[in-house]
Amino acid sequence: MSPRTKRLRPHTDTAERVVQSVCPYCAVGCGQQIYVKDDKVVQIEGNPASPVSRGRLRLKGSATLQLTTGSERRHEVLYRRSYPTDWEPLDLETAMDTVADRVVETRRRAWR
Ligand code: SF4
Repeated sequence: MSPRTKRLRPHTDTAERVVQSVCPYCAVGCGQQIYVKDDKVVQIEGNPASPVSRGRLRLKGSATLQLTTGSERRHEVLYRRSYPTDWEPLDLETAMDTVADRVVETRRRAWR
């Protein structure tokens, strides 16, 4: 091992705390460990305690760090109405109320 290699430290070494989470990309629900420093995410890795993924993340789950810290990340809700092709900004409270109303209405109408 070279001296430079010996000096390299994993991102997880600098974390102040680790938060348990679930990969947001698909319904498999692989377990994640979110490493946090100064209230910012510094690394995301698989959670060995997860019975679903047993410490593994595939490509998308491994790229979740970019989802949270990437420069392309949107910080507002965007809403596209039924027929227009443009997206419009929507405040979070209105968006959450809209989703909740639609879930309740669909359940009321279609639940068997
Ligand atoms: S890591 Fe891949 S398989 Fe696992 S939940 Fe994320 S997207 Fe799905």
